[in-house]
Amino acid sequence: MTTNLDLFEKAKKVIPGGVNSPVRAFGRVGGTPRFITKGLGPYIYDTDGKKYIDHVLSWGPMILGHCHKKVVEAIKTQAGKGMSFGAPTELETAMAEVICSAFKSIEQIRFVNSGTEATMSAIRLARAYTERDVTVKFEGCYHGHVDSLLSKAGSGALTFAIPDTPGVPQGIASTTAVLRYNDIKEFEEFMDLHGHAVAAVIVEPVAGNMGVVPPKEGFLSSLREKTTAHGTLLIFDEVITGFRFCFGGVQDMYHVTPDITCLGKIIGGGMPVGAFGGRREIMSLLAPEGPVYQAGTLSGNPIAMASGIATLEVLREDRPYKALDEMMGMFTRGVQDAARQKGIPVIINRVGSMASLFFNGSSVEDLDTVMKSDGNRYAKFFHSMLDQGVYLAPSPFEALFISTAHTTDVINRSIEAARHSLTMLRS
Ligand code: PMP
Repeated sequence: MTTNLDLFEKAKKVIPGGVNSPVRAFGRVGGTPRFITKGLGPYIYDTDGKKYIDHVLSWGPMILGHCHKKVVEAIKTQAGKGMSFGAPTELETAMAEVICSAFKSIEQIRFVNSGTEATMSAIRLARAYTERDVTVKFEGCYHGHVDSLLSKAGSGALTFAIPDTPGVPQGIASTTAVLRYNDIKEFEEFMDLHGHAVAAVIVEPVAGNMGVVPPKEGFLSSLREKTTAHGTLLIFDEVITGFRFCFGGVQDMYHVTPDITCLGKIIGGGMPVGAFGGRREIMSLLAPEGPVYQAGTLSGNPIAMASGIATLEVLREDRPYKALDEMMGMFTRGVQDAARQKGIPVIINRVGSMASLFFNGSSVEDLDTVMKSDGNRYAKFFHSMLDQGVYLAPSPFEALFISTAHTTDVINRSIEAARHSLTMLRS
């Protein structure tokens, strides 16, 4: 039988680090990555034949679980009609209409192939619109591997301690100012001094790439007020959060309206899709209507659109958000109670069906407090959970998710595993 280790060794010969996205390599937690052969509902299976409850869910997109019938059917139907034409299809307009009706701030949207492309293009558009160069981002937020946004970035960049990567020219890095997430005072002082030169402020309105860190009261509204005052565009990167908490975005929950929204993950239902959208007046600067060049051979790919539309239709019809929220609440309460009983300091940050567990004694509200958590303890916890068939993110700096396929029974099994793992940590 071919094992995970066999496949990893083989992959490393032809793919750097054996993976196509760094965190997959288990570098932060050690051990051998699992090579996945299939997924079904809340479960994934590896090449050793082991079954896991999946709390990574492709880092968020699989909100309906793996192989949801309607999504698979939509993909099959479209595959039978053709996979890519490089010409417009009605599917793109249908998908755009669904998103424009779900996000009040989006009048027009353009589809790309990843979250990275979405943020990269949104920044270019904001620079062109404002005729300014500087971008503000926040520590621990990750917006994809865009050159100018890889300063103090979260996710894999943080996991591998390369938040400022080699290969980005100083001239490009210097167009980005990095401020502390949730620090209203620092942001307001910065904008009072430099706001006139800032094209865009980009933020994860609920941060998910340093683990989950919700915005403090007043943080998002302060971003809105100061950017408006200085003629700067506010970009919400809702690549993780779009359609995760409600049929729309964080912007609906906190009642703060950005100028541009970036989307990805859920809107492709597991296929590679990203998007950015906003007011018509801004979006119409894009080619061919306007002068800002942006393009993609496979953008708006019919299979990706079919998968996304099917996913969004299920979410629109079923409105599973209250149930997802309750289910994740049950999960995090169960883990928190177990940690308390065992006397292990654990902070759990949760927003709806997205949460992070930090081995940390006091509250986690920015990158500094995230970094105070015990990553080695997380690694032990991760491996104990993995041994028991529960697949968590192989990094302490990521979110864990649930899908509509995670039943009470499945969640109880994850809680039971966590209870056991926490007992092991104490001993
Ligand atoms: N923005 C956010 C908030 C993300 O979480 C991610 C991916 N984790 C990206 C952008 C980049 O998306 P992609 O990996 O599809 O390029």
